[in-house]
Amino acid sequence: MTLGPADALRDAGLRVTSGRVAVLEALHDMPHSDAERLFQSLKQHLPGLSVQSVHNVLGDLTAVGLLRRIQPSGSPARYERRTGDNHHHLVCTECGAITDVDCAHGEAPCLTPVDAAGYTVTTAEVTYWGLCPACSATAS
Ligand SMILES: [Zn+2]
Ligand SMILES: [Zn+2]
Repeated sequence: MTLGPADALRDAGLRVTSGRVAVLEALHDMPHSDAERLFQSLKQHLPGLSVQSVHNVLGDLTAVGLLRRIQPSGSPARYERRTGDNHHHLVCTECGAITDVDCAHGEAPCLTPVDAAGYTVTTAEVTYWGLCPACSATAS
């Protein structure tokens, strides 16, 4: 069960601010958003909000584990509230759409390196690249 934004912030030891709550709520509705998209959707509700303050909020929330940051190559960093389950992502090479996929198998890290070289491996981030259904339809 996901805590409400204010409770989640208090649990993480962060002060509850309107900017933090708004970013958490927006990411609930639009997972995998980048800072610019969040700013565009929040600016009319939060006068005084800047892209920089959205970046600051995202950094704070990621640092305490309330958000997960993913950055497919060629894309700005995206953020999501689904943390800690080591899920993976399907990314469309055409339109940039991102879809969650569950861990390839079992517990994190679901993919064990052939040779861990002495590392204690905790996570594996897999990005599957391809065409999303909409782009596949227009490509054919
Ligand atoms: Zn696409
Ligand atoms: Zn995700």
